[in-house]
Amino acid sequence: MPILAHLDLDAFYAAVEELENPTLRSRPLVVGGDPHGRGVVATANYVARRFGIRSAMSSAEALRRCPDVVFVRPRHMLYRQYSQEVWAAIGEVVPRFERTGLDEGYLDLGSVIDEFTRARTIAEAVQTAVRARTSLTCALGVSTSKVVCKVASERRKPGGITVVRPGTEARFLAPLPVRALPGVGPKAEERLAAAGIATVGSLAALTDLELRAVLPGQVGRLLRDRALGIDPRDLELDTERVSISVEETFERNLSDRAALHAEVRRMADEVGGHLVRSKLSARTVTAKLRYADFSIRSRSTTLAAPIDDATQIGDLACGLLDRGLRDRPGSLRLVGVGVSGLSDFQQLSLEDV
Ligand SMILES: [Mg+2]
Repeated sequence: MPILAHLDLDAFYAAVEELENPTLRSRPLVVGGDPHGRGVVATANYVARRFGIRSAMSSAEALRRCPDVVFVRPRHMLYRQYSQEVWAAIGEVVPRFERTGLDEGYLDLGSVIDEFTRARTIAEAVQTAVRARTSLTCALGVSTSKVVCKVASERRKPGGITVVRPGTEARFLAPLPVRALPGVGPKAEERLAAAGIATVGSLAALTDLELRAVLPGQVGRLLRDRALGIDPRDLELDTERVSISVEETFERNLSDRAALHAEVRRMADEVGGHLVRSKLSARTVTAKLRYADFSIRSRSTTLAAPIDDATQIGDLACGLLDRGLRDRPGSLRLVGVGVSGLSDFQQLSLEDV
């Protein structure tokens, strides 16, 4: 049984603008287009939402609802930078994930835990890691399928975690309006409403015959499955930019090669263990060296085929450390071992067959 989560950053663009300019925090804020032209609201902060301002509303309407609202033009480069930090922080807790946008995606919690009962703890650890690194907050929905996680992450915004336990998925979805179900657009909603179906539960209860009359074909069957919480979609892993690294600052600067190698191998064990547990493998291995004067050098090597073996990672990292010390001798205050260019090991072995 999969253990998944959907993560959604709270009012992402607006939250970034508030971090960049804290005086905005207490004011109604819209990130979006010109209220005097044909601009639309990209994101409103929670103060603005109290006035009924929502994403995709025209900026002119937002201004009508709240004449004091502050408009800020979107700065996409900036949001991308924050997003990268967010996903790097997430990746350190849960390395297997699928990004579906700058501010949302699915996490494979099953890659770090075996028991569903521990899922909330991991979700909290993700929130803590994201907040520590970026000061941004997020909501998570935790369950056994993408569709239930996605719906659940909406329930306690901002900053909440909603856990839908195995076996309770359909019950959780049943009372919600059909529109809450991903895949039900305005058209499907209209057809369902015309047939007197307002809730996800009543969609789930339709017989094949009834379903065919309202939503014929594959779409109908797919939506009824989702209404029951059934969603076999796997995560489409997005691990290209993620890295896993471990580093350690020594109490005393180290120059003894054997001692340094021992440290590097210990870190390689940790990194390798993380890869194996996450069912990932890596093509690039990096050693990081920080000298007594705080300057940093790193040396990397990229392999033709991905590896996940700690000994191999250790061999390569020791070689990279030696290379770094040959280029610039000195004693070190910190050493790090990292891997990147991650890929899904199972997928690769399938392709190899
Ligand atoms: Mg969001």
